[in-house]
Amino acid sequence: MITFRSNIVDMSGYVPGFQPPDEDAFIKLNTNENPYPPSPKVVEAIRAELGEDGGSLRRYPSASSMKLRETAAEIYGFDPSWIIMANGSDEVLNNVIRACVSEGEEIGYIHPSYSYYETLAEIQGARVRTFTLTPDYLIERFPITYKGKLFFLTTPNSPLGFAFPPDYVAALPERVRGMLVIDEAYADFADYNAMELVKRYDNVVVTRTLSKSYSLAGMRLGLAIARPEVIEALDKIRDHYNLDRLAQAACVAALKDQDYFRECIGKIRDTREWFSAELKKIGYDVVPSQGNFLFVSPSDRDGKRVYDGLFTRKILVRHFSDPLLSHGLRISMGTREEMEKTLAVMAEIG
Ligand code: PMP
Repeated sequence: MITFRSNIVDMSGYVPGFQPPDEDAFIKLNTNENPYPPSPKVVEAIRAELGEDGGSLRRYPSASSMKLRETAAEIYGFDPSWIIMANGSDEVLNNVIRACVSEGEEIGYIHPSYSYYETLAEIQGARVRTFTLTPDYLIERFPITYKGKLFFLTTPNSPLGFAFPPDYVAALPERVRGMLVIDEAYADFADYNAMELVKRYDNVVVTRTLSKSYSLAGMRLGLAIARPEVIEALDKIRDHYNLDRLAQAACVAALKDQDYFRECIGKIRDTREWFSAELKKIGYDVVPSQGNFLFVSPSDRDGKRVYDGLFTRKILVRHFSDPLLSHGLRISMGTREEMEKTLAVMAEIG
């Protein structure tokens, strides 16, 4: 009889957003994907890497992902020794816990935020302490010194979309005794970010993803920026071939095409502001968002009713049964045309 660790037996596992089998039949606004394709240069780079007969796939990929680190370093203004590339930012979140938190030690995060942190804590056997939010979206009763081994700060927050003010974030590394992981999965859509903090503090890791802002969720590409000694520790425990050849080629091409990136970000931010203003006109509450999505609630605070109404019209958004969130919906920004259709349905169903 196989015996598993008790925390693995007790955990239920992460539940990702619903991916309908007939994806194209839906306007899909439930997993914060980008509605635009990746840069055409990404497709070219993948084709070039594959070659005529895909022969390059016989060979293992670069284990150090050095080309990617150099490209990312140039874009973000750091030396490559400050950057680690990952198979989605989920991989770095996982590895930071593995590197810093032993079984029985505490990690903290905000509720609501990214539910994967709980899964990671369960796998590691870590204890969890959650903090709620004040009405103006600051952390409720955050201690002068947080003594847990690691704290995840999601900013912009998902599922709510707000970002913590820069001064507030800048004061946190000194209040966290362990590692402060600033999960900036949505920061490319925001007006500001906290990346510079890693230069001042050795207990800060900033994580980014190419899933949303670079339209590469299907390629699984993320990264972390931190001081070289932190990167060295994370490098020791990652899967040594964590990024496949096609992902590496795609990553370099995507990061280099900053014009295309900026154009897509601009369109999504414009759509977000327009959609937010229109929803307010029809009586919705909208949380001010710095991400590529909005958390919105109808006046009767029945998020499930609107979710169902949209679902029957083949529009898929995200509804959370959590009591703190069930009054609303998280809606990812699609193209302007998709959002016009979504708005029309929401106006109809109220
Ligand atoms: N952090 C947050 C807050 C997210 O919403 C997501 C996407 N679900 C991730 C990290 C993980 O992104 P990925 O692994 O696709 O890079």
